[in-house]
Amino acid sequence: MAIADVSVTTRTVNHWIGGKLVASQSGRSGTVWNPATGEAQAQVAFASASEVDQAVASAKKAFPEWRATALSRRAEIMFKLRELVDANRRRIAELLTSEHGKTVPDAMGEVARGLENIEFACGIPNLLKGGFSEQSSRGIDVYQIRQPLGVVAGITPFNFPAMVPMWMFANAIACGNTFLLKPSEKDPSVSLFLAELLQRAGLPDGVFSVIQGDRVAVDRLLEHPDVKAVSFVGSTPVARYVYETGTRNGKRVQALGGAKNHMLVLPDADVAMAADAAVSAAYGSAGERCMAISVVVAVGSVADPLVEAIRERLARIKVGPGMEEGSEMGPLITREHRDKVASYVGNATAEGATVTVDGRQDPASQGDGFFLGATLLDNVTPAMRCYKDEIFGPVLGVARVDTYEQALQMINTNPYGNGVAIFTRDGGAARQFQFDVEVGMVGINVPVPVPVSYYSFGGWKTSLFGDLHVYGPEGVQFYTRTKVVTSRWPDPGTSKVDLGFPQVR
Ligand code: NAD
Repeated sequence: MAIADVSVTTRTVNHWIGGKLVASQSGRSGTVWNPATGEAQAQVAFASASEVDQAVASAKKAFPEWRATALSRRAEIMFKLRELVDANRRRIAELLTSEHGKTVPDAMGEVARGLENIEFACGIPNLLKGGFSEQSSRGIDVYQIRQPLGVVAGITPFNFPAMVPMWMFANAIACGNTFLLKPSEKDPSVSLFLAELLQRAGLPDGVFSVIQGDRVAVDRLLEHPDVKAVSFVGSTPVARYVYETGTRNGKRVQALGGAKNHMLVLPDADVAMAADAAVSAAYGSAGERCMAISVVVAVGSVADPLVEAIRERLARIKVGPGMEEGSEMGPLITREHRDKVASYVGNATAEGATVTVDGRQDPASQGDGFFLGATLLDNVTPAMRCYKDEIFGPVLGVARVDTYEQALQMINTNPYGNGVAIFTRDGGAARQFQFDVEVGMVGINVPVPVPVSYYSFGGWKTSLFGDLHVYGPEGVQFYTRTKVVTSRWPDPGTSKVDLGFPQVR
């Protein structure tokens, strides 16, 4: 089917409000592509502001009862959800592959990392424990409790349509909030399957809703007075906009943005291991990961053997449809995105870089699917666009420097600060790097240092707007507010009038 045949596509991806599918009345929609074939496979509804209001009203109505639900019952639902997601790993993965394009094994990895967040939320009774100070003053106890915020929203990107929603909703719901998900319009279907699993796990209607849409839906969520907090993950310009708009409207906002992740390779590194890591981290998911390595910074003599080792490995990468057995790298998300990524390869030579491997020559790049082969650019410098921009595709740059200090300066002056990795055999050098580097997540001989679910995920600089990282302990903090209670059960014998400021006695 060619692009012009969109009209023959009949499946529409709709909203999930109040525990059921709701057909959109907005009259606006977008196309969901099959990136492996270049065909349109569905239409996705774009919510109007009044449809967002309907979802917020349903979430607001569900909040008092959900908030009052026992912690053990909330944990039980999370346990049940854990079982359902586990039992449906393959189905979720195939849904991801069909709309996103990533390979099925990669999609299985996404489900596994999302599941971790549900497992973490199963421990919510323990996570919500407050503190208690007996006898803070004579006959007076002081204690702190954590309470949910109310209706909260999550706005998520196309590259992890299952995992990133799970980063957010597992904790948000377990903490007693009601949650509205606005997934990416590019791969929206998995959100509805997750809604169904939540319902089967026993979650009351209205506690989790899905609003499909574009900027109209996002803007309404950002201005709606009943939405108390917004978690956002996406590109830096939109993250900045969401943070500024949401906070201006009095909301709590965490907005995670884009990235340019460096991998620093010191001269003493194991070259084969560094090359394996660079290739895995740069080209996995076709480079469409916010933790993908996009620049290798090679120090001194390691550069030549490292570039050669990467080049050799690229020749063996099998590019093909994500559903196909043996495919290692799938297509990009849309034709426009593929063309944009390819344009960086086209401009690289004029900028002064060396195109060592040109993915445009890969046979897969010639078909109707949105494929681009693995590309390697050498002699990249910070002045070039291919260094400055987050390319978000299978294009790895190599920057050559003489010293560790030059490498560190390059990384620390980059406006992004999401992830970084160092490859070395020298523990002292790695420790110094961990101390010096201005990046939120650091890997030591680990190229994609996505924290496990009992830590929290977040970058520095323009990779995160807001104070708290997403998921893990900071996620629980984000989705709750604390209340401190000072309590006295009066002993009539000690009661008296005292106009002085309360002091500890
Ligand atoms: P995006 O910013 O285009 O879209 C993210 C979400 O915002 C989507 O739901 C989209 O519908 C909405 N949106 C898009 N434009 C908008 C606008 N002008 N106003 C309001 N809402 C808007 O991002 P994407 O292309 O879906 O995802 C890729 C980006 O996400 C990359 O930059 C990647 O680095 C980043 N990302 C970051 C992390 C992280 O944890 N830091 C994780 C995954 C992805």
